[in-house]
Amino acid sequence: MANVKFFGGEPVPLEMHKVRIVQKLNLPPIERRLEAITEAGNNTFLLRNEDVFMDMLTDSGVNAMSDQQLAAMMIADDSYAGSATYTRLENKLKEIFGMPYFLPAHQGRACENILGQVLVAEGAVVPMNYHFTTTKAHIVLNGGIVEELVADAGLEVTSDMPFKGDMDIDKLRQCIDEYGADRIAFVRMEAGTNLIGGQPISVANLEEIRKVCDEHDLMLVLDASLLQDNLHFNKTREATCKDLSIREITRRIADLCDVLYFSARKLGSARGGGMCIRSKELYDKMRGLIPLYEGFLTYGGMSVREMEAMTVGLEETMDEDVISQGPLFIEYMVNELAKAGVPVITPPGGLGCHINAMQFVDHIPQSQYPAGALASALYLVSGARGMERGTISEQREPDGSETFANMELVRLAMPRRVFTLSQVKYVIDRVIWLYANRHLIGGLEFTEEPEILRFFYGRLAPVSDWQQKLLAQFRKDFGDSL
Ligand SMILES: *Cc1c(COP(=O)(O)O)cnc(C)c1O
Repeated sequence: MANVKFFGGEPVPLEMHKVRIVQKLNLPPIERRLEAITEAGNNTFLLRNEDVFMDMLTDSGVNAMSDQQLAAMMIADDSYAGSATYTRLENKLKEIFGMPYFLPAHQGRACENILGQVLVAEGAVVPMNYHFTTTKAHIVLNGGIVEELVADAGLEVTSDMPFKGDMDIDKLRQCIDEYGADRIAFVRMEAGTNLIGGQPISVANLEEIRKVCDEHDLMLVLDASLLQDNLHFNKTREATCKDLSIREITRRIADLCDVLYFSARKLGSARGGGMCIRSKELYDKMRGLIPLYEGFLTYGGMSVREMEAMTVGLEETMDEDVISQGPLFIEYMVNELAKAGVPVITPPGGLGCHINAMQFVDHIPQSQYPAGALASALYLVSGARGMERGTISEQREPDGSETFANMELVRLAMPRRVFTLSQVKYVIDRVIWLYANRHLIGGLEFTEEPEILRFFYGRLAPVSDWQQKLLAQFRKDFGDSL
């Protein structure tokens, strides 16, 4: 976003785009919302979109596309092999990241499957700043071990540390000493980190990691799915990047890595994914798996329209006015909530606003899923759908006991260029109201609990009639307002 100061001094994140296509939204009254969340088993994944006003579940595949992206989709060159669309995509990636080889894949986790199969042998170790769900699953599936080496400060909920995604270099050295460099498959960095609040990594940290990798002849792999927000934070929080263009910062980051992969559902605001590779030898090994799992080498499971949208989206990612929108809206929301005393993860990161349920509803024991209860309550009072990132997202131990999560978070994702500031203000207002009435919120218990990925399909019920009480208080305070 452009540097525009308001005369009144209010920190307004001014949009540098205009809206030309809109989708009508529906805000059902709170009585209907109670029915809807009950039908959904108090699981926001199971809500139907027609009952949702602000869909803040995720930023994956739901960012707004530009007019240029839509226009490019119309001229996509449809062919199984050798399409001009693919050549445009490949050339754009080589231009931006400066790596000689590219392989397409249908989304981020598909890249992880191929990297896992080629690079992770039984007993191999992958040190990383922090895991992502699908990343960890693919490494473990191939018999590998994940070591999370984010600096301790990265896990503190409230902080003013600018790069909470940074890896602790001493921990990395210790990890290599402990296992021996031979057992390390590669070092993985996620920029920015998804599960710890969209917190970014610094270029300086990546440079140090590169040095350690060189000392031990290790590969450095970057998960660049959330790179778009990370670049904005490098530019605005890291002194050495202040005078560099986004394109230059991108190149500085990519030049430190051997492989860079991404989900284009996020990076480039399209669909699909891909891997940029420096070594011909590694490229040759990975290439053989693309036709097996994805599709022919010049589409990799993507439609040509997705690829055209990705090519244009990646170019647009090099524009600070485009990529700053998400982080600045998130910053606005986090700061307004923090000012009102609502416990949120600070400093503001990318991806979305993360509410600390452990503190918000500190009267609900972890065995009654505070983050799940808060996500349910928030939908009830606002029609906004967030995502539980707490104990429900964990899996039970083999003996049936609960694994309590380190953090109980409700993530309110901020799809880029989708919402207006008045809509964001509405959610802020309802969160603050809910905080004032937090003592009314009660816990949840499972009524249907699948063994795997229970957070996707599981159903829960309130442990008391707390939802009716919350509804009654809402009516008392807001009258006949939706
Ligand atoms: C979303 C995401 C992935 C997986 O990408 P998909 O396209 O959803 O398969 C991998 N890593 C990170 C950091 C992500 O945010």
